[in-house]
Amino acid sequence: MAGGNSPAVLVVEDEASIASFVALYLKNAGYDVSTAATGAEALARVAAGDIALIILDLMLPDIDGIEICRRVRQRSDVPILMLTARDEDVDKIIGLEVGADDYLTKPFNPRELVARVKSVLRRSAPERRHAESAQLRHGDLSIDAGRREVRVGEQEIQLAPKEFDLLWELLDHRGLVLTRDQLLERVWGYTFAGDTRTVDVHVRQLRRKLGDASPIVTVWGVGYKVGPARDPVSAA
Ligand code: CA
Repeated sequence: MAGGNSPAVLVVEDEASIASFVALYLKNAGYDVSTAATGAEALARVAAGDIALIILDLMLPDIDGIEICRRVRQRSDVPILMLTARDEDVDKIIGLEVGADDYLTKPFNPRELVARVKSVLRRSAPERRHAESAQLRHGDLSIDAGRREVRVGEQEIQLAPKEFDLLWELLDHRGLVLTRDQLLERVWGYTFAGDTRTVDVHVRQLRRKLGDASPIVTVWGVGYKVGPARDPVSAA
C-alpha cells in the first residue's frame, strides 16, 4: 500500500497478464491498486467500501461487466472505467448506458489509461464542482446540481452521472456552440483530443431519456448547443 491517502483502484479482469500490467502502471502512478478476477469478487469488494474507482473488464468468467456496472450503480456512484475489446462496440455503448463513466478499447496505451483514471477521479470528486444551490431552468426542464436531479415538468428523469454533467455543461453555456472536444475536456476532463464518440453516445442517451424536452441541437460538423426552450405543451 503506497501511503494512506492514495485513491484505491480496483482492477476487475480475469486475464492475469492484463490485470498485472494495468496494476503495475497504476501503482507507479501512485494509486493503491487491488485486483479481482471474477465479477462476484468485484461486487464483494465494492460492497466492502472504500473503492475510489473501478476498472472493469467487460468479459469475465461469471457475471459480465455490464451486469456488474448495473448492480454497482444501484447503490453507488463510484466511477467505473470499462475495458472492452475492439469488436465489442455495441457492448461498450451499453456500458455507458448502464452508468459507466468512460471506456477504453483493448489494446490500449497504459499511459492513456492512467490519464483517464486521473481525469475520471478528478471529475467525480465529492464537490461535484457545482455549487450546492445551483439550479438551471430551460422551458419545462429543470436541473438541480446540489441534488443532481433533472425534471421535465414534475417528472424526475434518471440520468447517469456523465449524462447529468453533459446536460449541465450545455445548459450552462446557452447560446454557445460547444465542440465535441470542448465537451470531452469539460465533462470528462481530457486535455488531449479524445474519443469524441463518447460525447455522441451520451447526447443520444440524453435525447432518448428527455424525449421532446431535450434541448440539445446538433450543429453539424461542429458540436452541440442548446436550442430555444420549447413552449409549454398544452394538454389539449
Ligand atoms: Ca476478460
